[in-house]
Amino acid sequence: MRLTFLGTGAGLPSKNRHTQSMVFNFMQELKECWMFDCGEASQHQIMNTTIRPGKIKKIFISHMHGDHILGLIGFLTSRTFLLREDGSNLQIFGPVGIKEYVESNLRMIKAYLSYDIDYVEFDSQQQQVIYEDDKVKVETFLLDHTIESYAFKISFERKKGNLLVDKLKDLGITPGLIYREIKQHETFEFAGKFYNSSDFMTPDSKGKVITILSDTAYFDRLNDFLSGTDILVTESTYLSALDKDLALKHKHMSIEDIYEFRKYNRFDQIYLTHISSRYMYDFLKELQEELDEKNMYIVSDLKEFNI
Ligand SMILES: [Zn+2]
Ligand SMILES: [Zn+2]
Repeated sequence: MRLTFLGTGAGLPSKNRHTQSMVFNFMQELKECWMFDCGEASQHQIMNTTIRPGKIKKIFISHMHGDHILGLIGFLTSRTFLLREDGSNLQIFGPVGIKEYVESNLRMIKAYLSYDIDYVEFDSQQQQVIYEDDKVKVETFLLDHTIESYAFKISFERKKGNLLVDKLKDLGITPGLIYREIKQHETFEFAGKFYNSSDFMTPDSKGKVITILSDTAYFDRLNDFLSGTDILVTESTYLSALDKDLALKHKHMSIEDIYEFRKYNRFDQIYLTHISSRYMYDFLKELQEELDEKNMYIVSDLKEFNI
């Protein structure tokens, strides 16, 4: 899987950063790409990547602030022209009101879309499953921001282990249909004898868990929601500990809050986005050097990561 940041700024665009949007390339796992938030210029930024808009089949909107949604209508209308064939349908997940926002805008500009949009709206105060299939599950969690804002947790199913081919060959079992049978069943029969499949496979591996924290102030219960997370993508508007008060005032987080998460959970990587434009290059460079050993990365527009 691959994660591409299209926009990494906070609030309003700056010379160096566009507003919020990121795309996960899950082509290998799900044959789809998923977009999270769609700030202004997201569609312009996509042109600088290898992501094809038609491959984006799900868009998740965290909240209705402009820096997270003002690129959505443009993206949706252009997507019609960029599809190789009609009917590459799309699902939009967002807080209650997202459907009205999109449909009224499309109506006002008399836009024609060559594909259908299926909406999933949520407004639950509790952790809630908003999407689930046999490979992946997505849950939301209400954050603490100036308006209703939601986090997303993407949990992939456990991955089945691989066959120990050499061990099977030692028994005289050569590749063929029986390999599939061994993978799918707990026991199998060969030459009149029964065997446990697990003796011929590597152990199942834990499915990856990715959590995206959009605009929010820090609160303790976030640590429960983060439990089990391998990859954390989080807003970190204020990168200096000196700006902690500003973070509290504007219901965002500072770098100190992200350090707090690390006390309760172990993450493989933490990506910091939604960065205030107040920090200059030298400050960012120095801070990143400190963060390297913590596997934390201050991301910038068009940065891509294999995750
Ligand atoms: Zn924002
Ligand atoms: Zn916001």
